[in-house]
Amino acid sequence: MVPRQVTPFAKPQYTAAMSSRTPGPVRIDGGHGADGTWVRPMPMPGSGVMSSVFSTIHLGEEGVTVIDPGWPGPREEEFLGPLDDFLRERGRRLDQITDVIVTHMHPDHVGAASVLLKATGARYAAGAVEWASAEAGRDGTGSRQWRPLPEMIGAPAGALDSVMAVFSRPPALPSFVPKRTPDVLLNDGDLLADYGLPEELGLRAVITPGHTPGHMTLAADDAGFYIAADMILPEIQPGIGLGISDVDGNPVVDYLGSLQRISEFDDYLVIPGHGYVFTGLATRRRETAEHVLGRAREVSDILGWNPEISIWRLAGQLTWSGGWEEMKSSPLLFSALRQTMMYRELVLRGDAAGGDAVTRWEQSFDLDS
Ligand SMILES: [Zn+2]
Repeated sequence: MVPRQVTPFAKPQYTAAMSSRTPGPVRIDGGHGADGTWVRPMPMPGSGVMSSVFSTIHLGEEGVTVIDPGWPGPREEEFLGPLDDFLRERGRRLDQITDVIVTHMHPDHVGAASVLLKATGARYAAGAVEWASAEAGRDGTGSRQWRPLPEMIGAPAGALDSVMAVFSRPPALPSFVPKRTPDVLLNDGDLLADYGLPEELGLRAVITPGHTPGHMTLAADDAGFYIAADMILPEIQPGIGLGISDVDGNPVVDYLGSLQRISEFDDYLVIPGHGYVFTGLATRRRETAEHVLGRAREVSDILGWNPEISIWRLAGQLTWSGGWEEMKSSPLLFSALRQTMMYRELVLRGDAAGGDAVTRWEQSFDLDS
């Protein structure tokens, strides 16, 4: 039977996350001695479960592996001190870090990578697709399918001026992404040990596109834990389509596919990017699918009445937490219009059999429509 709730792994971590405090590190492998795998939260600007970001740190015989070095804080030089303290308290040192792995190119996950790589000379591993999408951001070759251009949106004159400013900037790699190319580029199904990363970790790369184009998660199949990063979060929903640049395809469709695909980890301990470590992935996948498909259903209902409605007016009829009037002048307008375009395309493309795509997705997650 599928449990109805997710279960936090460590109560103090849960309590801290729910009250916007940064919890202490938690050892997740239940082992003894100097080796082991830890989840180390770092404070970041945000509230609730977004008030910290998780770094997974493995203290092994072959070296120290850091997965998602995290948010460097406002002053980069202040990042290394607390990490050094963390390692020393466990009999290790910074210069024993052999590997830095990043799940995706967002500042709260990869932001501290540059300073850590410089300080340690560690090997740097990332997902191949995620790196390609960052590179496409540098040279401006990303997909343009989801650019909310005024003529395509049907917006009133001037309404998209702030959005258009985004495109007038020259393409660039954001400053939080390390300039160097990763030493190891991982694809779906790759065993990290085959690339020279510590064998004892037993990690397998599981690429879960949606949040970003090449978002990478990591499965420790023998130990039974799953590093989900921002693929799925307790309490809140991760954004969709937030890559540095887009690749071909629809991020919402990709995300739903990833949400199904990770059912193979329903019995694993889940380490998300934010919040708290938990079990009960099946429950959380279902809740997350309900949220995404609730939005798709909303778009589908409007298009059912008015298939010719412009993207601008469609966005105006959707539910936004601060309301549409506020959204129109918000820096989030760009993202809101992109979301509207992605959901609209999902609805209009239908399913493979020429039927209703939203209904088919609902059925695939066992949701009542
Ligand atoms: Zn993220």
